[in-house]
Amino acid sequence: MEFSKIKELDSRNYMTVFNRQNLCFTHGKGCKLYDVAGKEYTDFVAGIAVNVLGHCHPALTEAIKAQADKFLHISNLYYGAEQSAMCEKLLDGTIFDRVFLCNSGAEANEGALKLIRKYYYNRGERRPKILSALQSFHGRTLATATLTGQSKYSAPYAPLPEGIVHIPYNDFEAFKAAVDDSVGAVFLETIQGESGVVPADYEYLVNVYAFCRSKGILLAVDEVQTGMGRTGKFFGFENYGIQPDIVTLAKGLAGGVPIGAVLARGEAADAFRPGDHGSTFGGNPLACAAASAVLDVVKDEAFLADVRKKGEHFKAGLAPLSKHNFVKDIRGTGLMVGLELAPELPGAQVVGKMASAGFLLNCAGRNTLRFVPPLIISEAEIDDMCGNLAELFAKTNI
Ligand SMILES: *Cc1c(COP(=O)(O)O)cnc(C)c1O
Repeated sequence: MEFSKIKELDSRNYMTVFNRQNLCFTHGKGCKLYDVAGKEYTDFVAGIAVNVLGHCHPALTEAIKAQADKFLHISNLYYGAEQSAMCEKLLDGTIFDRVFLCNSGAEANEGALKLIRKYYYNRGERRPKILSALQSFHGRTLATATLTGQSKYSAPYAPLPEGIVHIPYNDFEAFKAAVDDSVGAVFLETIQGESGVVPADYEYLVNVYAFCRSKGILLAVDEVQTGMGRTGKFFGFENYGIQPDIVTLAKGLAGGVPIGAVLARGEAADAFRPGDHGSTFGGNPLACAAASAVLDVVKDEAFLADVRKKGEHFKAGLAPLSKHNFVKDIRGTGLMVGLELAPELPGAQVVGKMASAGFLLNCAGRNTLRFVPPLIISEAEIDDMCGNLAELFAKTNI
């Protein structure tokens, strides 16, 4: 199909929710994508931190093909070897006791919210309030849009679910001031991704964790973007030495096959009773076969050490760009890196020019270029992109 036809059909048929870039791809391999004109791009978006093994990774492709030859979907009415094997791999060596599987990040967070509420009903405690950070992003369902600390995602859909209170991020005093006897949980990202790769300060998260422990408040961490080795640890929270009660995963977990997961430990892991929660597709054989293949690669200390090394290399490669007065900040951990631009240089403009140069980037909140490449990216590919960005910035006069 001609690209013009694709665009015409999209503009006629699809609900008008996206501002798409003028690009359309036909296939990919490793960290490369190819568009309808045959042009090659190096992918620093990875489907927004999804394609952790890049495109067409042999082990992942093989696992999906092998599963397709058996069956794609049965039902959670029955036991399944793929699901049992994947959950064992996922939980193995972690602090978590149980997992629930669904199909997206929003759904995982929705499940975590329900788990928190159920935990307190089981205990006969009235603690309906859940704290969440301003500028956070937790998804697009009604409850997770409300949990998201940006009213543009929720205000148009009022009335909203009750009991969610927003607090400033990285402000421990504000957190403490917001806690009273009605607070049951706090929900945080270790790095706020959508709002511009903003990491939690070490002291902040450690203090919040200790305070939660002392007050019996559940700590839920949204690792939908920061999990699956993105920061060079399997979970982003491991960079802080904390032990949350609940964590959510999605994006990279099955390397591009839709999936979400809620992991919990201790009493929280046992809060749901039969019938309390469920999903038709959640944890189906195809998604679990894919996730198993991804976990085999990612949940390996040598692989994670390599992500950390490449992350340091990446930030060192970007560091010289801070000499430009329009580069405000370079931040992030592992292969989740942000470069914040001054408002005079719109990120979308840089994204467009870098696409012409053959590099796919994305602009997140705070006018920040967000780099979340496949975790298999090479240092040569990183150097190539940093060199091209340096060339572009050298020609930019503002
Ligand atoms: C992407 C994202 C979500 C939402 O995931 P979906 O799969 O789009 O529903 C939730 N939380 C965080 C931190 C995310 O980055």
